[in-house]
Amino acid sequence: MTKRALITGITGQDGSYLAELLLSKGYKVFGLRRRTSIPIMDNIGHLKNEIELIEGDLLDLGSLMRAVSISDPDEVYNLAAQSFVATSWVQPVATAQATGMGVTNLLEAVRLTKPEARFYQASSSEMFGKVLATPQKETTPFYPRSPYGVAKVYGHWITVNYRESYNMFACSGILFNHESPRRGIEFVTRKVSDAVARIKLGLQTELRMGNLDAKRDWGFAGDYVKAMWLMLQQDKADDFVISTAETHTIEELVDIAFTHVGLDWKDYVVVDQRFVRPAEVDLLLGDCSKAKEKLGWEREVTFEQLVKMMVDSDLALINENLIKGVKIV
Ligand code: NDP
Ligand code: GDP
Repeated sequence: MTKRALITGITGQDGSYLAELLLSKGYKVFGLRRRTSIPIMDNIGHLKNEIELIEGDLLDLGSLMRAVSISDPDEVYNLAAQSFVATSWVQPVATAQATGMGVTNLLEAVRLTKPEARFYQASSSEMFGKVLATPQKETTPFYPRSPYGVAKVYGHWITVNYRESYNMFACSGILFNHESPRRGIEFVTRKVSDAVARIKLGLQTELRMGNLDAKRDWGFAGDYVKAMWLMLQQDKADDFVISTAETHTIEELVDIAFTHVGLDWKDYVVVDQRFVRPAEVDLLLGDCSKAKEKLGWEREVTFEQLVKMMVDSDLALINENLIKGVKIV
C-alpha cells in the first residue's frame, strides 16, 4: 500500500529534500504551508505537481487537526519552526510559540486524529549550547544559549513525553547544522557562498560577519533527511544524534569558499559587531555513533565538498539572473 506522509516546514530547506526523498520511495506527500501574501515556492516549485499542500499554521491547533485528517498520514515530520538563532533574540515570544509550543500543537493533533502515525521532531544541536561534554551525544545534558535553543529543548522533551505518556511512536532527531544551496540566505554558510559569488562577479566588495572563531559540525541537508526517514522505519521509537563528527571554524569555512574562486578572504571579510550574538555557542561536535550502528546512517558529502557545492550553486544562480536581466539586490 502507498505510504502517506505529512511534512510541516515543506517550503524550507529540509522539507524540500525530504519531500524529494519520500517521493522517490513512492510516498504520497502532503505539506503544511502557511498562507503568505506572495507564495514562496523557491524550494518546492519543481515538486508542485507531485505533492499536495494543505494550508495551516503550527500556532493553530484546528488547522493542524484538519491537515492530519486530510492527509491521513502514516508518518508525520515536524520540520516547521522559526529556525534562525539570531532572530530568536529579536522575536523570542514568536520563537517560543512556533519552535516550542508548535510541537505540542502538532503532537496533540496527531494524538487526537491519528495516534498510530509515526512522528519525527526536528530537534537541534543548539540544545547543547554551552556544551557540557565534547563530543555531544544523545545522553549529553542540554544547556541552550538562545531563545531558539530553549524552545527546541521544550520541543525535544514534549516529544519524549508523548512517547512515554501515550506510547506514541515519536522520535527526536538531534541534528547538527546541515546546509545546502537551499539554505536560508541569513545562515552563515549561505551568507558566505552568496557573498563569495557576488564578490567574484564584481557585484559586492566586502563581507561583514560576526564571530569567526565559533566551531560547527556541518553536513549536507540531503544526507540528513535520509536519517529522519530511517528513524521512522525502526521497530522502536528512539532519539538520535545526526552529525559528521568533524568540526570547523567559521574562518575555515570562509577560507575554503574564497579560495575556491581564487580569492583571499582577508581582502574582503570585515568583522562587524552587529553580527556578534548576545550569547554564543562556541563549539559543536556531534558523536553520531548510535545512528551509525542502529540506523546504518553515514554522511556522504564532506565539509569541503559542501562549501564548494554552495559557492558553485550561487555563482550559477547569480549568473543566470544576470543573463535574464533580473535585478540583483
Ligand atoms: P527552514 O527555516 O528552511 O524552514 C522552516 C520551515 O518552517 C519553513 O517551511 C517555514 O515556512 C516553516 N514555518 C515557520 N513557522 C511556521 C509556522 N508557524 N507554521 C507553519 N510553518 C512554519 O529550516 P530548515 O529546513 O533548515 O530546518 C528544518 C527544521 O530542522 C527546523 O525545525 C529547524 O529548526 C531544525 N533544525 C535545522 C538544522 C539545520 O542546520 N538546518 C539543525 C537542527 C535542527 P515559511 O516558508 O512559510 O517561512
Ligand atoms: P546556528 O549554528 O544555527 O546559529 O547557524 P548560523 O549559520 O546562523 O551560525 C553559525 C555560527 O556562525 C554562529 O556561531 C554565528 O555566531 C557564526 N557567525 C559569524 N558570523 C556570522 C554571520 O554573519 N551570520 C551568521 N548567521 N552567523 C555568523
